[in-house]
Amino acid sequence: MLFYAWRIAQTMTKQELRDQIKARIKLMPAEDREAASVQICKEIIGSAEWKKARTVWLYAALPDEVNLEMLFHEALKCSKRILLPVVDGNDLQIRFYDPQHVAVQGKYNIIEPSSQCPQLRDSDGIDLAIIPGRAFTRDGLRMGRGKGYYDRKLASVRCPKWGVAFACQIVEELPADPWDIRLDRVISAGKHQTDNNYSDWLLH
Ligand code: ADP
Ligand code: MG
Repeated sequence: MLFYAWRIAQTMTKQELRDQIKARIKLMPAEDREAASVQICKEIIGSAEWKKARTVWLYAALPDEVNLEMLFHEALKCSKRILLPVVDGNDLQIRFYDPQHVAVQGKYNIIEPSSQCPQLRDSDGIDLAIIPGRAFTRDGLRMGRGKGYYDRKLASVRCPKWGVAFACQIVEELPADPWDIRLDRVISAGKHQTDNNYSDWLLH
């Protein structure tokens, strides 16, 4: 079984793995995605890193990503500053989120801070970054959607970088490239799932 998993990882391209994970997430009912998201957010809120952070980098989730809504509420309640990425051509700008000034970006329909929100100038000002992805290994390798936005941006970010994922996005191995940024921690929740089997609930 282990050998089989290893062999698949060795032969699978990034795009094949992206397609496989996309299909697995599609199998998850919306209420399970929501329940897993809440468990992951609670795990983060309970951490020492979150508690002491003054500025947190979050993301506005697409329906097939871990939803960080609880973190947004908690951060606003505790007067933490929230940073959100804004796609700008090949680049990710990092802007301070202000609920009064949001724009919905056309292409991916993602909520983004509008151009009135100030840009982060110094990446040392981030205390904790929560990063989405398509697939992760337990020890922090990450594969995204194929545009490399986070790899380029995270190269200069020194704070703890945590990936968040549904259990079905965790793989034994993934075809990483030299530019892929390694994360410090990966937090996941959800039912144990193979490609055609959706079963027991797990929290890692
Ligand atoms: P993703 O991380 O979204 O899955 P990839 O890791 O496959 O995507 O990267 C997509 C593209 O982004 C690569 O072809 C690579 O050329 C480019 N890229 C990624 N990181 C960097 C970087 N630090 N500097 C320059 N180009 C990069
Ligand atoms: Mg990458």
